[in-house]
This record gives sequence, C-alpha cells and structure tokens, in this order.
Amino acid sequence: MATTGKIGVTTENIFPVIKKFLYSDHEIFLRELVANAVDATQKMKALAASGEYNAELGELSVRVELDEAAKTLKVIDNGIGMTEEEVDKYINQIAFSSAGEFLEKYKDQLSSIIGHFGLGFYSAFMVAEKVTIETLSWKDGAKAVKWTCDGSPEYDMESCDKAERGTVITLYIADDEKEFAEKARIQGLLNKYCKFMPVPVLFGEEKINKVEPLWARKPADLKEEDYNEFYRALYPMADEPLFHIHLNVDYPFNLTGILYFPKIKNNVEISRNKIQLYCNQMFVTDSVDNIVPDFLTLLHGVIDSPDIPLNVSRSYLQSDSNVKKISTYITKKVADRLDEIFKNERQQLEEKWDNLKLFIEYGMLSDEKFCDRAMKFCLLKNTDGKYFSIEDYKKAVEDEQTDKDKKVVCLYATDPEGQYSFIEAAKAKGYDVLLMDCQLDSHFVNLLEVKVENTRFARVDSDSIDNLIAKEEKIRPELSETEQEDLSVIFQAVLPKENQYYVQADNLGENAAPILITQSEFMRRYREMSAMGGGMNFYGEMPAMYNITVNMQNPLVARIMASKAADVAPAQVIPDAADDASEDVKRTVTEAKETAAAAHKSDLEAFAGDNEILKQITDLALLANGMLKGKDLSDFIARSAKVVEDAYLK
Ligand code: ADP
Repeated sequence: MATTGKIGVTTENIFPVIKKFLYSDHEIFLRELVANAVDATQKMKALAASGEYNAELGELSVRVELDEAAKTLKVIDNGIGMTEEEVDKYINQIAFSSAGEFLEKYKDQLSSIIGHFGLGFYSAFMVAEKVTIETLSWKDGAKAVKWTCDGSPEYDMESCDKAERGTVITLYIADDEKEFAEKARIQGLLNKYCKFMPVPVLFGEEKINKVEPLWARKPADLKEEDYNEFYRALYPMADEPLFHIHLNVDYPFNLTGILYFPKIKNNVEISRNKIQLYCNQMFVTDSVDNIVPDFLTLLHGVIDSPDIPLNVSRSYLQSDSNVKKISTYITKKVADRLDEIFKNERQQLEEKWDNLKLFIEYGMLSDEKFCDRAMKFCLLKNTDGKYFSIEDYKKAVEDEQTDKDKKVVCLYATDPEGQYSFIEAAKAKGYDVLLMDCQLDSHFVNLLEVKVENTRFARVDSDSIDNLIAKEEKIRPELSETEQEDLSVIFQAVLPKENQYYVQADNLGENAAPILITQSEFMRRYREMSAMGGGMNFYGEMPAMYNITVNMQNPLVARIMASKAADVAPAQVIPDAADDASEDVKRTVTEAKETAAAAHKSDLEAFAGDNEILKQITDLALLANGMLKGKDLSDFIARSAKVVEDAYLK
C-alpha cells in the first residue's frame, strides 16, 4: 500500500513558515505532541466507558523516550491510534487545508491559528529534520501505518508491523536544535508542561505527573490541608499561603482554578512565583498579565480554562470578550471570598491582615469595582493593634473626633516610635490613632477621604492636637504685625537652615510644650506621593516646610518675650516721605527704612543667638521630632549637661 504524496496544502514553503513564525518558543512542540497523545488516550477511555470498545484497555499512559546518542525523541501512547484514512485526513489534509490562506492573511496572529486549525502536530518540524508516525487504530481489522516526512511537503505512507494499539511519534532532532536531544532539557520541559496532565506521563521510569491537579476536584471534597499541600507542590520554596479561593464556573465560559493569597516577603518572590495558566491541565504560560487584573497578578496558584485563546498577541487578548469576562469573574470571586472571610473568619482575617493589607490596598487603588466591595471588608488597625472595619471605625471615633465643621477627623501615625509624643498627646485627649505604615498608605488615605463621607485624615504630628481636631473657635494670641514679624525672625535664627519655616503664635495652654514642630498634612502627603512616583513632582522638589507653633501661654516663652522687650530696641520708625516730595527725597526715605529694618533684624538675631532659653527649647522641640543632628546635637548635649549641673550642684 506504500504511497507517496504531497501534503494537502497549497503553500510550497509551509515548513519554513512554521519554523519561523508559528512559535517563537520552539520548546512547545513537546507540549503539543504529549497533548495529542493524552487526547488519544482520553478518547480511548471514553470508548471503553461507553461500551463501544470491549477488549482489554491495558495500562493507559503516555511515554516519552529519548535516545541521546541517536538524537531521537519518541512520544508513545496506547490511545485510539489512526487508520490509514485518518492519517490522510488529519495529518495530510486537514492540518493545512484551511491554514494556507490564513497564513497569508494573519501573519501577525499566526500562533492563534494553531489551536483552531490543528497545526499542533506540525510544530514537531520546528525541532526535527524528520518525523515518523507509526500508528495502529483501535478499530477492528485496522492495519498499522507508518508515515514519514523529512520536512519537505512530501510524505511517504506505508504499512508497518506495529502490533499494539496506539501511536508512536518519532522525532529525528535537527542539528541546530541539539538541546532537544538532551535529557535534562526534555525532563525540564515535561516538568513544566505536563505536571498535571490527566493521563500518566512517563519519562523513562519517572512519572512526570505525580501531583494531582487539585483544581479539577470538587471543593466540597477538599480540606484546608489539601490546598496547602498543593500549594507546596506548586511553590516548594514559599511560605504557607494565607487563604485560598477555589474557582469553578462553566457558564458563560469554562474556568477552574485555585488562587492563593501568598505571604509576600519580598519582591523577588512576587516575580518568581506566578499564577500559572493551564488549558485542560496542560501548562500554557505563567504570564497572565492580560487575563487577570493587574493587582491580582500578586496572587499565586493556577487557572485552567479552554476558553482563553492560546499563543496570541497581548493586544488580541485584551480585546477578547471571553478574557474580559474571565477577568471580571476572577475579581468578583476574590472579593466574594474576602467578604466571606470577613464575615465568618474575622479572627483569621485580623491575624493575617498585616500580610494581606498591601495586596488589598493595591486592589482598592487600582480597581474601582473591587474598591467598592472592599470598603466592607477592608480593616483599619490602630496603634494599639486593634482592628476595625472602616464603618465600625468611623462609628467608634465620631463622638470624640468630630470637629467644629462636623467632619470626623481620623488621626494616623506612620512611625509609632518617631511620632510617640504626638500619639500620646492624642490619646491623652481620648482620641484614637490609626497605624498607616505601609508603602501605599499615603495614596490609600486619599482614597478613604474620597470614599468615606464627611471624613478627613490627619497625621498625628501635622499640627497641635487642638488644631487637628478643632472643637470651637479658640482665642488666638493677638500679635501686631511687627510682633509677629519679630517672633518669626527670632525663631528662624535658631532653627536649622536647610528647611523652610512658618512661625505662628498660638495658645496651647500653660502646661503644654513651648514649641511644636509640625509638617502640614497636605504638603507632606504630596511630597510622599511624588516620591513614590505619582506625578506631582513640583512638590517633591520643594524644600521641606515646617510649621513652628509658639505657645504664647507657656511661661518659658513668656520669659523670652519679656527679655526681648527689655533688650531689643523697637525698630526705628521712619515717617513716609510726603506725596509731593522729590524723587531724591523718596529714594532717601526708602533707603533709610531698609537700613533701619536690617539693623532691627540683626539686633533680633543677636538677641536670639545669646538667649539660652530660646536655644534650649527650640533644640528640645527639634529633638522630639528627630531633627536635631550633628554639631547642633552635640552642642545641645553640652548645654544640657551644664543646665543639669547648675540645677543640682549649685
Ligand atoms: P489538533 O490536535 O489541534 O487537532 P494536530 O495537528 O495536533 O491538531 O493533530 C491533528 C489530528 O491528528 C488530531 O485532531 C487527531 O485526530 C490526530 N492525531 C494527532 N496525534 C494523534 C495521536 N497521538 N493519536 C491519535 N490521533 C492523533
């Protein structure tokens, strides 16, 4: 029966096309061949189950055999096999019949054709100079056939003496693809692509698919430990996951999978342990960027769907309506699961929150729909380590922390050590302070202000506590313009030069500190956000700006002001030149005014430089903010030591 023929395709140079365009990744030929063998085996099982086939089935498996010396690679199955007609139909004709014109038309999307038009088998020619198929169909009276093709469009078909049912595909590995004749390379590929295939895959003696694909089973039959064990099989080096989500949907698309919230320790792990995409238990890729929303790519686990087009370009994926639905579905499922954990396993959620927080905040900031759902289950943690839902938190603080404008002011700290004195001052007032120490928190706080009605967030050190939550119009000290100006000059004179300061007088009470150094919430937040790269570079480049609040009711401040009144002569008052005075006179008057102002300023600076109390209280305030450094710090210590000596020894 030996025949020779031309493969049923019009394009003469089909093989170079395959080699060049179809797969940039030559390695996937093995996935395609094993997948075909698995299919043939599954079909055999189905025939036996339906009673169409009654004879002995045998051990059903797919074997991969490599002869490194001969450079041949065999994929062997005992599935349904093919009759001569079937080889002719499926291999010689179908594979290329409709593909020819497509190749011309859709060169850039070529890879998407593969799944749909059955070019899978021909991917063998990406790595082989010659391929043979020896096959015996399951059908009664079928004769074994051998098909041989050396990469040109011509093939040979002859009968052969294969005695067992099934198919042997033999690849004669090409010289320039030698890597595929190496054991380690083949082993690696099988581990990558065939780990969860539904039929045993053997490489030599070794079984490749040892671990059961848990996602294919019913959630009801599985225990927590099963999920954890499966996770360990997927990511042997990772910590225990926090939670899992079992996905299972068959309408309007088919998708199964298990996603895990990982315990993220560092960025390396985020990029190494990725979600793996499967198609009927066959590994496709671990680059799921356009299939799951950005923030969910932080999750680990597997997704299996025959409805995701394989090997297609990214832009194609983005526009695919199934892919869009899948992405929406996954987001919804993740939100559902978190909601369920919030309702039924609150304790667990709180214990794991610090690890989950980054992920959820990222989701809320990047996905509006997810954000709306997450407003219910997102937790806030205060500086005492207590957790609240957003709604509960607002309720808990609104009695005490509503300001005169009827806004609920939520106080937060980013560094409990550094902001200790401010936190304590707030607590002494009966206020609560949240902990917001995560990378995304400055953005997150902005988001909460938008989402939670009538609420404002203020970092606990951004003003005096009475101003942060202003309860009633309070009486501010009355300073004339010149007094205000003098105050500013005196304090600027003793503060570090690298920053900018806005000096203001206030009444904070006799027992409160003489000086408070704060940074405006608005400025600080925008500087932080621009440092993280959120546009707004204008703010990032400005020098740090601090508010210096001078407590006029503090007795030490009163002493300084009294000494100033005694020691520094008031600025010389020079009357304005008359309106009708000559230009010369006007200029002379202006110059005299400038000279007088400069003289007064230098008097004030000299006074400030000599005033030990002023220096000491300013340094104390700087110290409280962690801003006293270098020579200033060592001078302060020396001065303080002397003050202590004077107090105790004299
Ligand atoms: P696809 O698998 O996408 O249909 P292929 O080119 O890989 O495309 O295979 C074409 C056809 O050849 C298959 O649909 C199947 O009918 C047949 N075939 C390929 N490999 C085998 C095999 N190992 N056993 C039985 N039939 C096979």
